[in-house]
Amino acid sequence: QIIHRALDIPVVAVGNINTIEAAEDIIANNRASIVAMARSFLADMDFVKKAYRGEAEKIRPCLRCIECAARPAYGGGVRCAVNPQLGRETKYASIGRTFEPKKVLIIGGGPAGMQAAQVASRRGHDVVLYEKQQQLGGRLREASALFKKADTHKRYLEWDIAATNDCGARIELGTEFTAAVAAAEKPDVIINASGGLHVKPNILGIESAKVVSISDAELKLAPVGKRVAVLGGGISGLEGAIQLAHEGHEVTIIDRFPVNKLWREVMDELRSGLIEQMLLHNVEIIDDATIISISDECVQYRKQSGELGKLQADTYVMSFGIKTDKEFNQMVNDLIPDVHVVGDAREPHNIFWANMDAFNVAVEI
Ligand code: SF4
Repeated sequence: QIIHRALDIPVVAVGNINTIEAAEDIIANNRASIVAMARSFLADMDFVKKAYRGEAEKIRPCLRCIECAARPAYGGGVRCAVNPQLGRETKYASIGRTFEPKKVLIIGGGPAGMQAAQVASRRGHDVVLYEKQQQLGGRLREASALFKKADTHKRYLEWDIAATNDCGARIELGTEFTAAVAAAEKPDVIINASGGLHVKPNILGIESAKVVSISDAELKLAPVGKRVAVLGGGISGLEGAIQLAHEGHEVTIIDRFPVNKLWREVMDELRSGLIEQMLLHNVEIIDDATIISISDECVQYRKQSGELGKLQADTYVMSFGIKTDKEFNQMVNDLIPDVHVVGDAREPHNIFWANMDAFNVAVEI
Protein backbone atom coordinates (compact mmCIF):
# COMPACT_ATOMS: atom_id res chain seq x y z
CA GLN A 1 0.00 0.00 0.00
CA ILE A 2 2.80 2.44 0.92
CA ILE A 3 4.71 1.58 -2.27
CA HIS A 4 1.58 1.85 -4.41
CA ARG A 5 0.64 5.27 -3.11
CA ALA A 6 4.20 6.59 -3.39
CA LEU A 7 4.71 5.57 -7.03
CA ASP A 8 2.99 6.57 -10.24
CA ILE A 9 3.55 3.23 -11.96
CA PRO A 10 1.30 0.15 -11.58
CA VAL A 11 1.97 -1.94 -8.47
CA VAL A 12 0.93 -5.60 -8.33
CA ALA A 13 -0.12 -7.20 -5.03
CA VAL A 14 0.63 -10.92 -4.77
CA GLY A 15 0.77 -13.61 -2.10
CA ASN A 16 -1.90 -15.19 0.09
CA ILE A 17 -4.75 -13.51 -1.78
CA ASN A 18 -7.17 -16.41 -2.13
CA THR A 19 -10.61 -15.00 -2.69
CA ILE A 20 -12.24 -12.60 -5.09
CA GLU A 21 -13.48 -10.65 -2.05
CA ALA A 22 -9.90 -10.15 -0.80
CA ALA A 23 -8.79 -9.07 -4.29
CA GLU A 24 -11.66 -6.61 -4.65
CA ASP A 25 -10.94 -5.18 -1.22
CA ILE A 26 -7.33 -4.43 -2.24
CA ILE A 27 -8.40 -2.66 -5.44
CA ALA A 28 -11.35 -0.84 -3.85
CA ASN A 29 -9.16 0.50 -1.05
CA ASN A 30 -6.37 1.59 -3.41
CA ARG A 31 -3.77 -0.72 -1.90
CA ALA A 32 -2.50 -1.91 -5.32
CA SER A 33 -3.26 -1.39 -9.01
CA ILE A 34 -3.44 -5.08 -9.89
CA VAL A 35 -3.93 -8.28 -7.91
CA ALA A 36 -2.02 -11.38 -9.00
CA MET A 37 -2.92 -14.92 -7.99
CA ALA A 38 -1.36 -18.24 -8.89
CA ARG A 39 -2.54 -21.21 -6.86
CA SER A 40 -6.17 -20.08 -6.81
CA PHE A 41 -6.19 -20.51 -10.60
CA LEU A 42 -4.77 -24.02 -10.26
CA ALA A 43 -7.44 -24.99 -7.75
CA ASP A 44 -10.15 -23.64 -10.06
CA MET A 45 -9.28 -22.92 -13.67
CA ASP A 46 -12.64 -21.14 -14.06
CA PHE A 47 -11.90 -18.73 -11.21
CA VAL A 48 -12.14 -15.62 -13.43
CA LYS A 49 -15.20 -16.82 -15.34
CA LYS A 50 -17.09 -17.58 -12.14
CA ALA A 51 -16.08 -14.27 -10.58
CA TYR A 52 -17.16 -12.42 -13.75
CA ARG A 53 -20.53 -14.18 -13.68
CA GLY A 54 -21.02 -13.17 -10.04
CA GLU A 55 -20.71 -16.78 -8.86
CA ALA A 56 -17.88 -16.31 -6.36
CA GLU A 57 -19.39 -18.95 -4.07
CA LYS A 58 -18.85 -21.56 -6.82
CA ILE A 59 -15.08 -20.97 -7.00
CA ARG A 60 -13.29 -24.06 -5.66
CA PRO A 61 -11.00 -22.76 -2.88
CA CYS A 62 -7.27 -23.48 -2.71
CA LEU A 63 -6.07 -25.23 0.46
CA ARG A 64 -2.61 -23.60 0.38
CA CYS A 65 -1.21 -27.09 0.89
CA ILE A 66 1.55 -26.61 -1.74
CA GLU A 67 1.15 -30.08 -3.23
CA CYS A 68 1.25 -28.28 -6.60
CA ALA A 69 4.64 -26.73 -5.89
CA ALA A 70 6.18 -29.74 -4.18
CA ARG A 71 5.01 -32.54 -6.47
CA PRO A 72 7.20 -31.68 -9.51
CA ALA A 73 10.25 -31.78 -7.23
CA TYR A 74 9.42 -35.43 -6.48
CA GLY A 75 9.34 -36.31 -10.17
CA GLY A 76 5.67 -35.76 -11.05
CA GLY A 77 4.00 -32.97 -13.00
CA VAL A 78 2.03 -30.16 -11.40
CA ARG A 79 -1.00 -31.61 -9.62
CA CYS A 80 -3.57 -30.12 -7.27
CA ALA A 81 -5.09 -31.52 -4.08
CA VAL A 82 -8.57 -30.26 -4.92
CA ASN A 83 -8.50 -30.21 -8.73
CA PRO A 84 -7.63 -33.67 -10.09
CA GLN A 85 -7.87 -32.39 -13.68
CA LEU A 86 -4.88 -30.08 -13.25
CA GLY A 87 -1.85 -31.15 -15.27
CA ARG A 88 -3.92 -33.87 -16.98
CA GLU A 89 -5.82 -31.66 -19.41
CA THR A 90 -4.85 -33.71 -22.46
CA LYS A 91 -7.06 -36.47 -21.06
CA TYR A 92 -9.42 -34.68 -18.70
CA ALA A 93 -9.81 -31.11 -19.98
CA SER A 94 -13.54 -31.63 -19.56
CA ILE A 95 -15.68 -34.34 -18.03
CA GLY A 96 -17.72 -35.83 -20.86
CA ARG A 97 -21.14 -37.39 -20.49
CA THR A 98 -21.39 -41.15 -20.70
CA PHE A 99 -23.35 -42.97 -23.40
CA GLU A 100 -24.22 -45.68 -20.84
CA PRO A 101 -25.76 -44.10 -17.74
CA LYS A 102 -25.58 -46.40 -14.73
CA LYS A 103 -26.92 -46.47 -11.21
CA VAL A 104 -23.91 -45.57 -9.05
CA LEU A 105 -24.03 -45.99 -5.28
CA ILE A 106 -21.37 -44.20 -3.25
CA ILE A 107 -20.61 -45.20 0.34
CA GLY A 108 -19.31 -42.32 2.43
CA GLY A 109 -19.61 -38.55 2.30
CA GLY A 110 -16.01 -37.56 3.04
CA PRO A 111 -13.76 -35.88 0.45
CA ALA A 112 -13.47 -39.02 -1.71
CA GLY A 113 -17.21 -39.75 -1.64
CA MET A 114 -18.09 -36.14 -2.45
CA GLN A 115 -15.57 -36.04 -5.32
CA ALA A 116 -16.97 -39.30 -6.71
CA ALA A 117 -20.56 -38.02 -6.46
CA GLN A 118 -19.75 -34.76 -8.27
CA VAL A 119 -17.82 -36.42 -11.10
CA ALA A 120 -20.17 -39.39 -11.61
CA SER A 121 -23.16 -37.02 -11.68
CA ARG A 122 -21.48 -34.78 -14.25
CA ARG A 123 -20.94 -37.85 -16.38
CA GLY A 124 -24.69 -38.37 -16.39
CA HIS A 125 -24.98 -41.34 -14.05
CA ASP A 126 -27.83 -41.81 -11.60
CA VAL A 127 -25.95 -41.30 -8.32
CA VAL A 128 -26.94 -41.95 -4.72
CA LEU A 129 -24.57 -41.29 -1.81
CA TYR A 130 -24.98 -42.88 1.62
CA GLU A 131 -23.37 -41.19 4.64
CA LYS A 132 -23.84 -42.61 8.11
CA GLN A 133 -23.33 -39.25 9.84
CA GLN A 134 -25.97 -36.55 9.73
CA GLN A 135 -23.64 -34.34 7.69
CA LEU A 136 -21.18 -34.56 4.81
CA GLY A 137 -17.48 -33.88 5.33
CA GLY A 138 -15.81 -36.93 6.87
CA ARG A 139 -12.23 -36.33 7.98
CA LEU A 140 -12.25 -32.94 6.28
CA ARG A 141 -14.21 -31.75 9.32
CA GLU A 142 -11.25 -32.58 11.58
CA ALA A 143 -8.86 -30.55 9.44
CA SER A 144 -11.35 -27.67 9.37
CA ALA A 145 -11.42 -27.65 13.18
CA LEU A 146 -7.67 -26.87 13.38
CA PHE A 147 -6.89 -23.19 13.89
CA LYS A 148 -4.06 -23.42 11.34
CA LYS A 149 -6.46 -24.71 8.68
CA ALA A 150 -9.69 -23.05 9.74
CA ASP A 151 -9.57 -20.49 6.95
CA THR A 152 -8.61 -22.71 4.02
CA HIS A 153 -10.06 -26.11 4.91
CA LYS A 154 -13.31 -24.78 6.34
CA ARG A 155 -13.89 -22.80 3.16
CA TYR A 156 -13.11 -25.84 1.04
CA LEU A 157 -15.37 -28.03 3.22
CA GLU A 158 -18.27 -25.63 2.75
CA TRP A 159 -17.61 -25.44 -1.00
CA ASP A 160 -17.36 -29.24 -1.30
CA ILE A 161 -20.62 -29.81 0.57
CA ALA A 162 -22.45 -27.20 -1.51
CA ALA A 163 -21.04 -28.66 -4.76
CA THR A 164 -22.12 -32.15 -3.70
CA ASN A 165 -25.60 -31.04 -2.72
CA ASP A 166 -25.94 -29.26 -6.08
CA CYS A 167 -24.50 -32.01 -8.29
CA GLY A 168 -27.75 -33.87 -8.82
CA ALA A 169 -26.90 -36.90 -6.70
CA ARG A 170 -29.41 -38.12 -4.13
CA ILE A 171 -27.81 -37.74 -0.70
CA GLU A 172 -28.93 -40.06 2.10
CA LEU A 173 -27.58 -38.72 5.39
CA GLY A 174 -27.70 -40.52 8.72
CA THR A 175 -28.04 -43.87 6.97
CA GLU A 176 -25.46 -46.59 7.45
CA PHE A 177 -24.73 -48.60 4.33
CA THR A 178 -25.59 -52.29 4.66
CA ALA A 179 -26.22 -55.20 2.33
CA ALA A 180 -29.94 -54.46 2.72
CA VAL A 181 -29.38 -50.94 1.34
CA ALA A 182 -27.61 -52.40 -1.69
CA ALA A 183 -30.44 -54.89 -2.21
CA ALA A 184 -33.00 -52.08 -2.13
CA GLU A 185 -31.02 -49.69 -4.37
CA LYS A 186 -29.87 -52.30 -6.92
CA PRO A 187 -26.79 -50.32 -8.09
CA ASP A 188 -24.80 -51.24 -11.20
CA VAL A 189 -21.65 -49.83 -9.59
CA ILE A 190 -20.60 -49.25 -5.98
CA ILE A 191 -17.86 -46.77 -5.09
CA ASN A 192 -16.70 -47.57 -1.57
CA ALA A 193 -15.41 -44.30 -0.08
CA SER A 194 -16.29 -45.30 3.46
CA GLY A 195 -12.98 -44.14 4.95
CA GLY A 196 -10.77 -45.96 7.43
CA LEU A 197 -10.72 -46.85 11.11
CA HIS A 198 -8.57 -45.41 13.89
CA VAL A 199 -5.78 -47.82 14.79
CA LYS A 200 -6.24 -48.96 18.40
CA PRO A 201 -3.22 -50.99 19.52
CA ASN A 202 -3.51 -53.69 22.13
CA ILE A 203 -2.12 -51.68 25.06
CA LEU A 204 -3.15 -52.37 28.66
CA GLY A 205 -5.66 -49.68 29.67
CA ILE A 206 -6.47 -48.45 26.14
CA GLU A 207 -10.19 -48.78 26.95
CA SER A 208 -9.87 -46.33 29.86
CA ALA A 209 -12.44 -43.52 29.91
CA LYS A 210 -9.51 -41.10 29.83
CA VAL A 211 -8.50 -42.29 26.36
CA VAL A 212 -10.10 -40.43 23.44
CA SER A 213 -9.41 -40.45 19.70
CA ILE A 214 -7.66 -37.54 18.03
CA SER A 215 -10.81 -36.92 15.95
CA ASP A 216 -13.03 -36.68 19.02
CA ALA A 217 -10.53 -34.35 20.71
CA GLU A 218 -10.31 -32.06 17.68
CA LEU A 219 -14.03 -32.03 17.02
CA LYS A 220 -14.77 -31.52 20.73
CA LEU A 221 -16.83 -34.69 20.84
CA ALA A 222 -15.03 -35.79 24.02
CA PRO A 223 -13.90 -33.80 27.07
CA VAL A 224 -10.16 -33.07 27.18
CA GLY A 225 -8.44 -32.21 30.47
CA LYS A 226 -5.70 -29.67 31.12
CA ARG A 227 -2.75 -32.09 30.85
CA VAL A 228 -2.80 -34.07 27.63
CA ALA A 229 -0.63 -36.93 26.40
CA VAL A 230 -0.90 -37.44 22.65
CA LEU A 231 -0.10 -41.09 22.00
CA GLY A 232 1.46 -41.29 18.55
CA GLY A 233 3.41 -38.48 16.94
CA GLY A 234 2.61 -38.83 13.25
CA ILE A 235 1.41 -35.84 11.31
CA SER A 236 -2.14 -35.92 12.69
CA GLY A 237 -0.78 -36.37 16.23
CA LEU A 238 1.48 -33.38 15.75
CA GLU A 239 -1.25 -31.20 14.25
CA GLY A 240 -3.66 -32.26 17.00
CA ALA A 241 -1.05 -31.56 19.68
CA ILE A 242 -0.44 -28.06 18.33
CA GLN A 243 -4.19 -27.43 18.21
CA LEU A 244 -4.73 -28.60 21.80
CA ALA A 245 -1.78 -26.53 23.02
CA HIS A 246 -3.21 -23.55 21.15
CA GLU A 247 -6.46 -24.09 23.07
CA GLY A 248 -4.56 -23.87 26.37
CA HIS A 249 -3.79 -27.51 27.17
CA GLU A 250 -0.37 -28.68 28.36
CA VAL A 251 0.58 -31.22 25.72
CA THR A 252 3.21 -33.94 25.49
CA ILE A 253 3.58 -36.26 22.50
CA ILE A 254 4.87 -39.80 23.04
CA ASP A 255 6.16 -41.72 20.03
CA ARG A 256 8.20 -44.85 19.50
CA PHE A 257 10.44 -43.27 16.85
CA PRO A 258 13.39 -40.96 17.52
CA VAL A 259 12.46 -37.36 16.86
CA ASN A 260 14.67 -37.13 13.76
CA LYS A 261 12.60 -39.90 12.13
CA LEU A 262 9.22 -38.26 12.77
CA TRP A 263 7.16 -36.43 10.15
CA ARG A 264 9.22 -37.82 7.27
CA GLU A 265 5.99 -38.16 5.27
CA VAL A 266 5.40 -34.41 5.48
CA MET A 267 6.79 -32.28 2.68
CA ASP A 268 9.93 -30.37 3.65
CA GLU A 269 8.13 -27.13 2.87
CA LEU A 270 5.49 -27.82 5.54
CA ARG A 271 7.53 -29.73 8.13
CA SER A 272 9.62 -26.78 9.26
CA GLY A 273 6.46 -24.69 9.81
CA LEU A 274 4.89 -27.43 11.93
CA ILE A 275 8.01 -27.84 14.05
CA GLU A 276 8.09 -24.09 14.56
CA GLN A 277 4.45 -24.19 15.72
CA MET A 278 5.24 -27.10 18.04
CA LEU A 279 8.04 -25.13 19.69
CA LEU A 280 5.97 -21.95 19.80
CA HIS A 281 3.17 -23.76 21.64
CA ASN A 282 5.56 -25.52 24.06
CA VAL A 283 4.51 -28.99 22.94
CA GLU A 284 6.83 -31.46 24.68
CA ILE A 285 7.93 -34.68 23.04
CA ILE A 286 9.04 -38.00 24.51
CA ASP A 287 10.56 -39.88 21.60
CA ASP A 288 12.02 -43.37 21.23
CA ALA A 289 9.41 -44.54 23.75
CA THR A 290 7.09 -47.55 23.51
CA ILE A 291 3.88 -47.27 25.51
CA ILE A 292 3.47 -50.15 27.97
CA SER A 293 0.24 -49.28 29.76
CA ILE A 294 -2.31 -46.57 30.44
CA SER A 295 -4.03 -46.07 33.77
CA ASP A 296 -6.11 -43.31 35.36
CA GLU A 297 -2.91 -41.96 36.94
CA CYS A 298 -0.37 -42.13 34.14
CA VAL A 299 0.90 -43.62 30.93
CA GLN A 300 3.94 -45.86 31.33
CA TYR A 301 6.54 -46.19 28.61
CA ARG A 302 9.88 -47.81 27.93
CA LYS A 303 12.62 -45.90 26.15
CA GLN A 304 14.71 -47.62 23.50
CA SER A 305 17.55 -47.64 26.04
CA GLY A 306 15.39 -49.81 28.35
CA GLU A 307 14.76 -47.00 30.81
CA LEU A 308 11.17 -46.90 32.15
CA GLY A 309 9.20 -43.68 32.45
CA LYS A 310 5.78 -42.34 33.48
CA LEU A 311 3.77 -39.37 32.31
CA GLN A 312 0.77 -38.11 34.22
CA ALA A 313 -2.06 -36.64 32.18
CA ASP A 314 -5.77 -35.93 32.50
CA THR A 315 -6.54 -37.15 28.98
CA TYR A 316 -4.77 -39.55 26.63
CA VAL A 317 -5.37 -38.74 22.97
CA MET A 318 -4.89 -41.70 20.64
CA SER A 319 -3.26 -40.87 17.34
CA PHE A 320 -1.90 -44.15 16.05
CA GLY A 321 -3.05 -43.56 12.48
CA ILE A 322 -5.81 -44.85 10.23
CA LYS A 323 -6.21 -48.33 8.78
CA THR A 324 -8.55 -49.80 6.20
CA ASP A 325 -11.66 -51.62 7.40
CA LYS A 326 -10.95 -54.98 5.75
CA GLU A 327 -14.10 -56.67 7.04
CA PHE A 328 -16.41 -53.94 5.75
CA ASN A 329 -14.56 -53.74 2.43
CA GLN A 330 -14.91 -57.50 1.97
CA MET A 331 -18.64 -57.32 2.71
CA VAL A 332 -19.04 -54.62 0.03
CA ASN A 333 -16.83 -56.43 -2.48
CA ASP A 334 -19.05 -59.50 -2.22
CA LEU A 335 -22.28 -57.61 -3.05
CA ILE A 336 -21.98 -56.98 -6.79
CA PRO A 337 -19.21 -57.50 -9.38
CA ASP A 338 -18.53 -53.81 -10.08
CA VAL A 339 -17.12 -52.39 -6.82
CA HIS A 340 -14.37 -49.75 -6.59
CA VAL A 341 -12.62 -48.86 -3.33
CA VAL A 342 -11.25 -45.31 -3.10
CA GLY A 343 -9.68 -42.89 -0.63
CA ASP A 344 -8.88 -43.98 2.93
CA ALA A 345 -11.05 -47.08 2.46
CA ARG A 346 -8.46 -48.30 -0.06
CA GLU A 347 -5.31 -46.82 1.49
CA PRO A 348 -5.26 -44.12 4.18
CA HIS A 349 -3.60 -40.98 2.87
CA ASN A 350 -4.24 -37.27 2.53
CA ILE A 351 -6.88 -35.22 0.72
CA PHE A 352 -4.80 -35.06 -2.45
CA TRP A 353 -5.00 -38.84 -2.83
CA ALA A 354 -8.64 -39.01 -1.72
CA ASN A 355 -9.71 -36.59 -4.44
CA MET A 356 -7.42 -38.08 -7.10
CA ASP A 357 -8.44 -41.66 -6.35
CA ALA A 358 -12.17 -40.89 -6.42
CA PHE A 359 -11.91 -38.78 -9.57
CA ASN A 360 -9.95 -41.46 -11.43
CA VAL A 361 -12.65 -44.03 -10.74
CA ALA A 362 -15.73 -41.84 -11.24
CA VAL A 363 -14.51 -40.33 -14.51
CA GLU A 364 -14.00 -43.77 -16.08
CA ILE A 365 -17.31 -45.40 -15.13
S1 SF4 B 1 -2.24 -28.18 -4.63
FE1 SF4 B 1 -2.96 -27.19 -2.76
S2 SF4 B 1 -1.91 -25.21 -2.76
FE2 SF4 B 1 -1.73 -25.99 -4.82
S3 SF4 B 1 -3.44 -25.09 -5.90
FE3 SF4 B 1 -4.12 -27.08 -5.18
S4 SF4 B 1 -5.10 -26.72 -3.22
FE4 SF4 B 1 -3.88 -24.89 -3.74
